Amino acid sequence: MTPLAFLPGRAEGTAVLTEKFESFQGEGPWTGQRCVFIRFSRCNLKCGFCDTPESWDWSRYNPTEVSERVPIADLVTWVRERDVDLVVITGGEPMLQQPAMTALARGLTGVRIQVETNGTMEPTPELASLIDLWVVSPKLANSGMDYSVRIKPPALTALAATGRAVFKFVVTDPGSDLDEIAQLAEECQLEPVWVMPEGTTRETVLAGMDALHGPAAERGWNVSTRLHILAGVR
Ligand code: SF4
Repeated sequence: MTPLAFLPGRAEGTAVLTEKFESFQGEGPWTGQRCVFIRFSRCNLKCGFCDTPESWDWSRYNPTEVSERVPIADLVTWVRERDVDLVVITGGEPMLQQPAMTALARGLTGVRIQVETNGTMEPTPELASLIDLWVVSPKLANSGMDYSVRIKPPALTALAATGRAVFKFVVTDPGSDLDEIAQLAEECQLEPVWVMPEGTTRETVLAGMDALHGPAAERGWNVSTRLHILAGVR
């Protein structure tokens, strides 16, 4: 059985989602912009710090209760009704559903589309041409995943080759994570680099920003906050 097979409905022209909602982008280069989030269900990794386990952790959640198959045409209509010029496709790992992403992007001409991905899967040429910004977050050792599972150099190279990708890393321990990021960025030619503190409270995010901005500046990297945590919004 494929990861998506147990949900009812026709696969073609549909996406399996965890949720969709309107908010502000809280992370990365487009922080603060009004947008809608479309959270695709399922993931190919199991990171220890994952803040969306309802998209993949079936030891804690029932997939038939926390995900649903939605027609792409309905999603396009929903986005148009929100009157936003930015859609963030996130997950889970949305690249597990590339045909659905492609159909959605085709239907949203004139709306900017940002994709948040863990960087383990290459986009098709058509999908690559339809996405305005790839925010790629390769996972570090702090995720608890084996290197060979979380780092796929051909996929990272393909995403970098789009010319519209940034590489954003979640930092839990600057003492070890920053050197690991530097090594990976050099090995896979990843740029620009963004670093962002892990944290689900204002205090931890602010403490993380304090710890990161100096070392990031020294290395020529960018720093991302987590605005939705600081502002207390979704
Ligand atoms: S790749 Fe993202 S969604 Fe998947 S387990 Fe890791 S943090 Fe969670």
